[in-house]
Amino acid sequence: MIRSITRQKPEEELDQLLDGLGRVFIIGCGTCVTLTHTGGEPEVKAMKETLSNKGKLVTGEMVLPVACDNLTAEALKEYGEQIEQSDVLLIMTCAFGVQTIARQLEKMVVPALDTLFMGKETGVGQFDEICTQCGTCILGETGGICPVTSCHKGLVNGPCGGTSNGKCEIDSEKDCAWTLIYSRLKELNRLDSMRKMQKPRNHHGEPSPGKFKLSA
Ligand code: SF4
Ligand code: SF4
Repeated sequence: MIRSITRQKPEEELDQLLDGLGRVFIIGCGTCVTLTHTGGEPEVKAMKETLSNKGKLVTGEMVLPVACDNLTAEALKEYGEQIEQSDVLLIMTCAFGVQTIARQLEKMVVPALDTLFMGKETGVGQFDEICTQCGTCILGETGGICPVTSCHKGLVNGPCGGTSNGKCEIDSEKDCAWTLIYSRLKELNRLDSMRKMQKPRNHHGEPSPGKFKLSA
């Protein structure tokens, strides 16, 4: 399962963002941020308490089932009055949720979280980024392991000189992506791929802003 991975913004930053905005409505989400304990029911309640202790008036709070979903507009309507009474919506969802909500309501929005990456659950409570959507995929030559995402230097030709006993020089807890690629290609009897020089990365591989339209 792929999840949007988030981290709560530092308290000082939130204080600055909410400076002068006394009435706050808090919105969480029942999917990714609930799983990562950054914007589910307990975190929304804790935020309410924190803000109340700081003298803010919390006009209400809700946890949307799926904040980035089209049904969000309908769900928000149920809290119309409490939202109306607020100066700002403090949104404890990933940026997809924040933008979905911002498009539905004419209200100032403040994200309570930073959105880090799209992560795949690789163990209980552990999420790893597996693709940065670079637009120039080389998985076909790396045995299905992505060096752009999992090598600390994002090298498309590796390993660098710092790999040591299969670990990365930047984080000795982490396996060197290129050692993993080597082992995988060896297993597949495709070490010839490793000798092929990849072209320097095209950092404009992905369209920016990203747009896609199905052709008729
Ligand atoms: S090479 Fe690019 S598109 Fe392919 S998995 Fe890695 S980041 Fe994603
Ligand atoms: S040690 Fe391996 S993972 Fe770390 S930066 Fe070098 S090639 Fe990349």
